[in-house]
Amino acid sequence: MAAVAIQEHEPTQKALGWAARDDSGILSPFHFTRRVNGENDITLKILYCGICHSDLHMIKNEVGLTSYPIVPGHEIVGVVTQVGSKVNKFKVGDKAGVGTIVGTCGACPDCQDDLEIYCPKASHTYTLFPTSDQPKNYGGFSDIMVVNHRFALRFPDALPPEGGAPLLCAGITVYSPMKYFGLSEAGKHVGVVGLGGLGHLAVKFAKAFQMKVTVISTSPGKKEEAIRLLGSDSFLVSKDSDQMKAAMGTLDGIIDTVSAPHSINPLVDLLKRDGKLILLGAPDLERPPELQVFPLIMGRKMIAGSAAGGLKETQEMLDFAGEHNITAAVELIPMDYVNTAMARLEKGQVRYRFVIDVANTLGFGSA
Ligand code: NAP
Ligand code: ZN
Repeated sequence: MAAVAIQEHEPTQKALGWAARDDSGILSPFHFTRRVNGENDITLKILYCGICHSDLHMIKNEVGLTSYPIVPGHEIVGVVTQVGSKVNKFKVGDKAGVGTIVGTCGACPDCQDDLEIYCPKASHTYTLFPTSDQPKNYGGFSDIMVVNHRFALRFPDALPPEGGAPLLCAGITVYSPMKYFGLSEAGKHVGVVGLGGLGHLAVKFAKAFQMKVTVISTSPGKKEEAIRLLGSDSFLVSKDSDQMKAAMGTLDGIIDTVSAPHSINPLVDLLKRDGKLILLGAPDLERPPELQVFPLIMGRKMIAGSAAGGLKETQEMLDFAGEHNITAAVELIPMDYVNTAMARLEKGQVRYRFVIDVANTLGFGSA
């Protein structure tokens, strides 16, 4: 597979997005260019784009990687408007999704293993690691996207695109480790920590895998929805030490989606022998979690991390979601609500994913 970096002098077309210019993270309209559709590309008219907590981390430069201006958005569903001459996978009018990456080296072990997300040269949907030899990428808070067809996913007809958009990051980010770490086996008991965008989809996938699910949350007010709407079997308030103590040694695995620094030792205690704690959240890098090793040793327990999955697995996840009718619970918002949405996301005031109605509202508001 060939690399997909483009040349600086390639012809371009106009695009409109919303960008943050500094670490205030405030987004406002931004005119930029995208390459014209190449022979291996498709062009999407973006319909919907989810707001991932990673977008919030990035617009505020919370992980120190941000290159401004940044147009965030990596949970993209659009309709195909142009198809390159070498593309068979899509036709004009199809719905397609784009997640967190839009290019890779194609040659490294990660690419060869269909785990492109781990490719050291991966080109992210909006640039994370700027280099002088790669043009800057802008994300899905924008009107159009031009993408090499290999990085676009077929979006299931059965799913509503606004509810399905968050699958492109939140969905695959929980699905991939559940599959890889054996936390998708019917009858096993999984804990989901943090009932937000990732967490509520983890509950939905786990129930589709016929697992027993316990949500572990800081928000007692989410208990009823977790059980009644999402199908969780039980709910623990993580700040309630009696509840946590009573549940010690009960879980085969935990998917931890918390977006802020938090204590992980009480989570390790919830695991059975050989249990696995999978960390997905990307909180403050300057405040790494404290870890007591003894409980790991005594229970042969494992702590791991995981990024969004590879392209093949992302397609598999979308198809599985289509078959099991798995979508995110979304609050659909107009583009000019995005700054309010980011402020609410920061305070945990969303159930459970903001999705921007890009096609109908981009360009109609002001910052
Ligand atoms: P989100 O919707 O904001 O959900 C995060 C949840 O974490 C909240 O709903 C809340 O759940 C819990 N939480 C927040 N602050 C907390 C605190 N101080 N202590 C304990 N719990 C807290 O975020 P998201 O979009 O699901 O993303 C979650 C994290 O995953 C983010 O850090 C994001 O950057 C990261 N992420 C990683 C990958 C990857 O590749 N690994 C991909 C996407 C996102 P409760 O109210 O239930 O406690
Ligand atoms: Zn994301």
